[in-house]
Amino acid sequence: MISIVVPCYNEEEAIPFFYPELKKYLDEIPETYEILFVDDGSKDRTVKEALKLKKNDENIKVISFSRNFGKEAGMLAGFREAKGDYVVVMDVDLQDPPRLLPELYRTVKEEDYDSAATYRVTRAGEPKIRSFFARMFYKIINKMIEVEIVDGARDYRIMSRRMVDAVLSLSEYYRFSKGIFPWVGFKTKYIEYENVERVAGETKWNFWKLFKYAIDGIVGFTTAPLRVATVLGTMVSIFGFLYMLYIVIKAMTVGDPVAGYPSLIAILCLLGGIQLLVLGIMGEYLGRTYMETKCRPNYVIKEIL
Ligand code: UDP
Ligand code: MG
Repeated sequence: MISIVVPCYNEEEAIPFFYPELKKYLDEIPETYEILFVDDGSKDRTVKEALKLKKNDENIKVISFSRNFGKEAGMLAGFREAKGDYVVVMDVDLQDPPRLLPELYRTVKEEDYDSAATYRVTRAGEPKIRSFFARMFYKIINKMIEVEIVDGARDYRIMSRRMVDAVLSLSEYYRFSKGIFPWVGFKTKYIEYENVERVAGETKWNFWKLFKYAIDGIVGFTTAPLRVATVLGTMVSIFGFLYMLYIVIKAMTVGDPVAGYPSLIAILCLLGGIQLLVLGIMGEYLGRTYMETKCRPNYVIKEIL
């Protein structure tokens, strides 16, 4: 069996387009299937739209959250609920084209891969500034973490049962799937496609959300930023020591005609800034450690239909 996990948040407009398109390609796959719509606390008619489809298709299941928990929680719930030997996760807005599904399936079924994933070669239709920061993010994070995140990689992918079980064995609260998928390993084939625009509705991301997501990714996969304190501290100390020598020698040789106010302020500001930055970085890690130790569930299910 193949399980299709579809996180949905306020997607009443997209669902009616999504289902026929998906079904068209599902029919090409010689497996029984289940479609798991994970309703992430939608405020519109998302659940009703999904249930409407269920009338004609017994293989549809709707998992409904008690409130909005985010896409990561939605994917996790879907993976936990999925019974299939193969599990696919895809967006409902048709930005993850179902036409790639037969190829994804063939890759894991016939070739020696546990996963087939997709990435966008273009970012056409996306604001320029967003593309720029996205590129920077991939460059920076790939320098810092031990696994590689492919630039433009989507969450859209198919996984074998053993890979899904591996993904589920990571029990962290702050989930960053873009990193978790490569982290669990297994052979993954990347299939490229051109960016597609959303079929209906609008994106749930804004710049601030993406920024927080980027921080989650970095903090979740490396402690390298913590070393910033060590590095900066060492550099500033060395500089401070040399400067002290200079001041002392100058005072002893040419004397010290007072002044020095601007340099004092400059150094004060610089040091203050560095201290706050380092405190902030430590805070990011401390805050997450705090949240993780609470062991709260990632989501609360209201009902499964
Ligand atoms: N989504 C979700 N919970 C959220 C935000 C988004 O389940 O809090 C779903 C959304 O319904 C869609 C997918 O995640 O199926 C991707 O969202 P979106 O299209 O807004 O992201 P983008 O394609 O712009 O990256
Ligand atoms: Mg989208």
